[in-house]
Amino acid sequence: MLQQIVLQDGFSFPALGFGTCAIGDWQQDDDYVVQTILKAIKAGYRHIDTASLYGNERSVGKAIKLSGIPREEFFVVTKVWDCDQGFESTLASIDASLARLELDYIDLFLVHWPVPSKTRETWAAMEQSVDAGKLRYLGLSNFRQSDIEDLLSFARIKPVCNQIELHPYLTQQPLCDYCNEKGIVVSCWSPLGTGTWSGVELSQKPLADAAIIAIAERYGVTPAQVILKWNLQQGRMAIPKGESDKNIIANLGLSGFELTLDDINAINQLNRNHRYGGNPDTVYESNMKMAVPA
Ligand code: NDP
Repeated sequence: MLQQIVLQDGFSFPALGFGTCAIGDWQQDDDYVVQTILKAIKAGYRHIDTASLYGNERSVGKAIKLSGIPREEFFVVTKVWDCDQGFESTLASIDASLARLELDYIDLFLVHWPVPSKTRETWAAMEQSVDAGKLRYLGLSNFRQSDIEDLLSFARIKPVCNQIELHPYLTQQPLCDYCNEKGIVVSCWSPLGTGTWSGVELSQKPLADAAIIAIAERYGVTPAQVILKWNLQQGRMAIPKGESDKNIIANLGLSGFELTLDDINAINQLNRNHRYGGNPDTVYESNMKMAVPA
């Protein structure tokens, strides 16, 4: 069985999820995307990460239907985009995601990026949607410690996770420590150092780091498996995206080895505070220029 995350109420779901950002191309939503997600489901993924901004919630919903697997076996995560934050617009965003996914409820709904002036209203809409049975759990994405402190000062329903950019070149240890202290599970986006959307060469990613490769060779596994295991052994979720059969299947193969504490510390030491994606301190204006497709 895949390693599980157990929430404070005892509910559990797989720590390893399938990332769906820019499968094929940015905001692509067609049969290629459906078939790629279906391939991942057939390989064994049940935790699927999407977002209204990715423009592919319809493909996620279709793949789930086509799989023939009962809906309750899936853990579906989606997010409200920055432009849609606020009370009424978050309610509308949740309904739009449910319609595109063709689901009655979403397992985990995240605030995609912090917009501090809107967080209270956005969260209130999310709480109301939990009460209405449309959302099961609430969470955050890209929230800094100060954003979480603010949210915790008024939240009636506590966030169960914070999905942040996290890989060996950006370990975000202080933020992880704070989340652990508050019982908020960290989920790692771009765990392998980003997909093609970023234009980053493989040679610049932790997958090509000599220290990671040396550990992988020692265990007879791949660099990606080492990085994913490093996250899971520290109680975090990871949501790698893959399109090739080889990558999709390999990323699930994490059960035959255990990293030592020395290995984990050695990987922690690779931190360069290097972000491939946006920085929550500065990304707001460029995010507001990106729209959720209809
Ligand atoms: P990842 O770090 O998951 O890297 C994906 C890239 O790595 C792809 O090019 C893929 O190739 C390749 N790859 C996958 N498996 C392997 C492997 N075993 N060995 C070598 N290469 C491999 O990048 P993403 O940026 O897609 O991040 C993952 C997910 O995180 C997203 O899909 C999305 O769901 C989420 N995310 C969330 C954000 C947020 O703000 N909350 C921001 C960005 C992402 P190929 O596709 O060819 O198989």
